[in-house]
Amino acid sequence: MSGEGGLDELTVHQLLGRIVYFHVLLIAPDLPAAERMPASGPACCHHRAHGSRLLDTALEGSAWGVLLEIAAELPDHHRSCPRSSGTCCAACRVTSAASAVGSGWAAAEHRAYHQCPPEPGLLDACGRAAASRVGRVFAAQHDTSCAALSRFTVDPPAPEALPGVDELPLTGELLALWADPAATPQTPVASWLNHCTGLGDIRRVLESRRAPS
Ligand SMILES: [Zn+2]
Ligand SMILES: [Zn+2]
Repeated sequence: MSGEGGLDELTVHQLLGRIVYFHVLLIAPDLPAAERMPASGPACCHHRAHGSRLLDTALEGSAWGVLLEIAAELPDHHRSCPRSSGTCCAACRVTSAASAVGSGWAAAEHRAYHQCPPEPGLLDACGRAAASRVGRVFAAQHDTSCAALSRFTVDPPAPEALPGVDELPLTGELLALWADPAATPQTPVASWLNHCTGLGDIRRVLESRRAPS
């Protein structure tokens, strides 16, 4: 059960493991070669006036580090602090990485299922929702907070702007799991997605469900 300090570590590992599993198996093989270098985002809160207690060196060797590695594989969606050098705010880095995963996955899924680029508004909503939901769990677990987090949590995207699990299954499941992480079972998440070996598989399932019987 989650206590005052947030989720227990096992649940957090389970949730992060789910991201790694989906990314490595299903998303990464479908990523186009990165066309440009990652753009810099706004400075993290440690490199602005306010400072931050928890620096990103705390992420090294922690389960959260995988999130940064995955975000680095999504350069078109990742915008981290220009001073990214081991002295950034950990919560800001986790938040920007989660945003890259949310919008990067939505882009990859949309491309695979519809063969056309998604609306920019969809990517923005997925990125902001992932940032606030994942960031909130991180902040609670580490008893920290920062300006970036409050920016995401005061103005979350409207639920109807987000894709459901029937629309973009991987992104939809990611957002759903992190929206209510305390409900995550501590055994592997059971889902039809576990039987898919690529985005093409998922597309075929979605198409067969839509086909008139
Ligand atoms: Zn920084
Ligand atoms: Zn911060």
